[in-house]
Amino acid sequence: ERRQAEALRDLPAVSADGVALPLWGNIARPDGAGEILSRGGDGVGLFRTEFLYMGRDEAPTEEEQLAAYAEALTVLSPRPVTIRTLDAGGDKEIPYLASLVGHEANPFLGYRAIRLCLDHPELFKVQLRALLRAAVAGNLWLMFPMVVDAEELRAAKALLDVCAAELEAEGLEWARPAKVGVMIETPGALLMADLLAREVDFFSVGTNDLTQYLLAADRMNPRLKRLQDPFHPAVIRGLSVVARAAAAAGIDLGMCGEMAGDPLAIPLLAALGFRELSMTPARIPAAKKVLRSLSVAEAGKRLDEVLKAVTTAEVRSLLASWP
Ligand code: PEP
Ligand code: MG
Repeated sequence: ERRQAEALRDLPAVSADGVALPLWGNIARPDGAGEILSRGGDGVGLFRTEFLYMGRDEAPTEEEQLAAYAEALTVLSPRPVTIRTLDAGGDKEIPYLASLVGHEANPFLGYRAIRLCLDHPELFKVQLRALLRAAVAGNLWLMFPMVVDAEELRAAKALLDVCAAELEAEGLEWARPAKVGVMIETPGALLMADLLAREVDFFSVGTNDLTQYLLAADRMNPRLKRLQDPFHPAVIRGLSVVARAAAAAGIDLGMCGEMAGDPLAIPLLAALGFRELSMTPARIPAAKKVLRSLSVAEAGKRLDEVLKAVTTAEVRSLLASWP
């Protein structure tokens, strides 16, 4: 069994009919990068940087962040490492930022992530500078969380340019990220996807939050289990909207929400046109097994029936019947 796992690790992430679908890992700290390689993954699809900000009394310095990002980039170079800027708020509380946020009746609809960062350049610039400096070490894909429209994206990119100009003037070594993208995890971003796609190099769909916001169901509330399911037909239809927008603009389309690592979802995601799936590293071997026996062309022929399904149960049973 161990031999089988080792053999699988070294096989490429390609479907039976030859479609390459790289399988990447989600990490919270740079030392998670090694596990991705040992599980047979090809990159990082989500580095949740907020964990660098947790369990301490103040934000990590530029040098501390530089060391963390450069470590992950170096370990995986030349493979892509997708680093997401600070996604504070909602389920990700950072006590020393509480005074900036104030009391909120609805933290998931609150002053968080890119909203908080854009309002506090003194906080955000430290991270952006560290990222530009770390980009020298490998293949950096930079990603912004919780974006709802192009205004936020433009403001974030403008601040990135300011940081680049500063580093240049200071004579520090830096590089542009290989790609800049946004997470699609809000209904706003979903409905703006065709326009956002013109201004980014990639989309990465965050199904954890996209499900929460599309179905207006708090992802932490145990009473809402029925609505915390990314196989809900509203979410499936949302995925096809994003996929069409990405294809029309010719940009990369990936997924880093939990759905990406679910074997039941992989044929559907491949058929929709997703071309990177990022998951908990432990799920990579099972995902690769599904992928390598999958015909993406055959899955594509059955896509319509899933997009017409009325209930979550119907979506799930249709997918379970796919060959
Ligand atoms: C998501 O929302 O799907 C996602 C990948 O990000 P997080 O779970 O960190 O909010
Ligand atoms: Mg999210």
